[in-house]
Amino acid sequence: MSQTAPETALERLEAIRERMARAAGRIAGGGKAELVAVSKTFSPEAIEEVIVAGQRRFGENRVQEAQGKWPALRQKYPDLVLHLIGPLQTNKAREAVALFDVIESLDRERLARVLAAEMEKQDRRLPCFVQVNIGAEPQKAGVAIDQTPDFVALCQNTYGLDVVGLMCIPPIDQPPGPYFAQLAGLAERSGLQKLSMGMSADFETAILMGATQVRVGSALFGAR
Ligand SMILES: *Cc1c(COP(=O)(O)O)cnc(C)c1O
Repeated sequence: MSQTAPETALERLEAIRERMARAAGRIAGGGKAELVAVSKTFSPEAIEEVIVAGQRRFGENRVQEAQGKWPALRQKYPDLVLHLIGPLQTNKAREAVALFDVIESLDRERLARVLAAEMEKQDRRLPCFVQVNIGAEPQKAGVAIDQTPDFVALCQNTYGLDVVGLMCIPPIDQPPGPYFAQLAGLAERSGLQKLSMGMSADFETAILMGATQVRVGSALFGAR
């Protein structure tokens, strides 16, 4: 076992937190980015190791998978915060609103309408991020850049959703910095405070560009 390759969940978590702090230290007023630990595909046992190491905020990308893993963990650790970071079908909105605490994949009007109705019904007003298709990639989810300000306003004003920020997944084959910077500019124009951007490969860059939360999976849990 190499001394520099972190092996336990606690060591991996501490290494990521240290890298986050170092990146935050390089920007004015830095240090505010939160870690969302992306636990998709990992077992409740692997997740519990990370919880025991001190992490409380997690992200899952599929409602059905999350339903199988999280209710028992939530019962045992009531202070967990669970983010939905993957595409949401409207027919899963009821389950999503019941299980998650934050929705990061708000990307179309029909979903906004259904989510608003479910939140009202369940009396759970969840903070939402609007997902932006920052690289204008046809295969990717997200609102087009030029439609983002109007869509944010629609979600807030017509549907009364608590839109707190923007989320993006930049193209994998290009330097992410300019995309993160563009998302930050878009959020500012809409008066939004939060930016969900940066994953295992680029979370330090995202923090330098103003990320308030990074979504880190494989660097914490191992390869999927
Ligand atoms: C899987 C996933 C992540 C984490 O990716 P890693 O490269 O494993 O850190 C972040 N965001 C979303 C939306 C994901 O689906």
